[in-house]
Amino acid sequence: MTGRILIADGLATNRITLKVRLSAACYDVLTATSPQQVLVLAAQQQPDLVILGSSLCGEDPVALCRMLAQNPATAQIPLLLQCESNRLIDALGAGAAAVLEPRVDEHLLLARIRGLLRQNDMLASVVGMAEAPATFDGPIRGDVTLVADTPGRALGWKHLLSQHLPCRFTVNDAEQALAAVARENAAELYVIATDLEHPGEGLRLLAELRSRNASRDSSFIIAVPEGRSDLVTIALDLGAGETIPVSLQSETMVEATAMLIKAQIRRKRLADRRRAEAERHRLWAMTDPLTGLYNRRYALPRLTAIAQDAQDQGRAFSVLAMDLDRFKLINDHFGHAAGDAVLVEVATRIGRAVADRGMTARVGGEEFVAVLPMTDADQAAQLAEIVRQEVMSRPIALPMRVGGGELAVTLSIGIASGGVTGQRIDPARLAEDALDRADHAMLAAKSLGRNRVMRAPAVQAA
Ligand code: GH3
Ligand code: MG
Ligand code: MG
Repeated sequence: MTGRILIADGLATNRITLKVRLSAACYDVLTATSPQQVLVLAAQQQPDLVILGSSLCGEDPVALCRMLAQNPATAQIPLLLQCESNRLIDALGAGAAAVLEPRVDEHLLLARIRGLLRQNDMLASVVGMAEAPATFDGPIRGDVTLVADTPGRALGWKHLLSQHLPCRFTVNDAEQALAAVARENAAELYVIATDLEHPGEGLRLLAELRSRNASRDSSFIIAVPEGRSDLVTIALDLGAGETIPVSLQSETMVEATAMLIKAQIRRKRLADRRRAEAERHRLWAMTDPLTGLYNRRYALPRLTAIAQDAQDQGRAFSVLAMDLDRFKLINDHFGHAAGDAVLVEVATRIGRAVADRGMTARVGGEEFVAVLPMTDADQAAQLAEIVRQEVMSRPIALPMRVGGGELAVTLSIGIASGGVTGQRIDPARLAEDALDRADHAMLAAKSLGRNRVMRAPAVQAA
């Protein structure tokens, strides 16, 4: 993963050393020497990350961090602050996404950067949904599972953190944590010690939880023994959002951990909201709002993909083109709303009859298409007959809001098959041709009196 990083440091040696390290890792690096330049460049260039060094021409880096976090033009950019550990709480309170000591090990710095860029990438993956990042105001009631080397340690964490956070804390061992996930009962955030019953077992648990569907979007904070920055690097690269010392010795450390938990839960919830939004966009883009079937925009590329698979495998695929008979009369006599109710019920009946034999879409006003992979013309004709019968089998009850009553409707269906001629044809053309032939067959069904199934003539091999 590459990204654009703005390095802000008043000391030329710091800037140059860091720039060389990051450029070698293929990041696109910008530099700023003064606080004013940082504010301007961050707003103009919208980097993926700003690293605020400790020497900034007399400006307090924490104050600069607050300015960037509060400015709407830069609020969504993650800020990595390099400052002494006694400023940790101030820095987190000012909106820093992460805090490192100034003379930190290079591997650790790069792992931190990768982690922040990965989180940011996930948050930004839905275009046009800028939203303020995690902030620290207000309490947060999250579900937090604590997994430590001993139950005593986990209970200690729970006791200390409960004084700062109104979260629901659960103390688990590794097995219990995995069993809960298997029951689809994942925590929003896990605090896991690197070493459990065995050294490194906590990191394996992290990897395991990150690979399970139910817990892969949870947040993770890894508790690392003092002086093991090698384990911090590994934890961050395995997907931990943060690391903390395993023994929360001072009140400051407890408070800072509580702030980190809060920030991680907020970030996770923001990511969840964006994923849900992205899913809504995806469904909206591919479905027809009236009937819930796939729409034309989705169906045509899918038809091409199915045609391509059929051709690759030398197997047949079929297309049903379906059109309601004399539908305009329903609108004319009973109104558009009644027409809509009929379309919804017909779509349900077609969808039910086709079921998992293929994909059903509404491709026009009262026109539907079913694309049937691995289905030859005979099989398609049998299914088309079932669909036709299903639609005409019983009258459609109109809702009271459109006047009630019942209406009988019928469907004309054209069938075309393709995929087994042995010729290599452009899949888009193959799909288009099948749809055209199915449409012509449907029109032939109309001209022969409607409410019937007609097959298109088979395509002869060249
Ligand atoms: P045919 O048997 O030849 O197919 O006759 P038809 O009346 O079904 O066909 P025609 O193409 O003349 O009319 C289709 C009608 O479908 C015209 C249009 O007003 C109506 N229609 C298209 N989209 C919608 C819709 O979303 N809701 C409703 N209620 N009507 C629609
Ligand atoms: Mg029509
Ligand atoms: Mg029609």
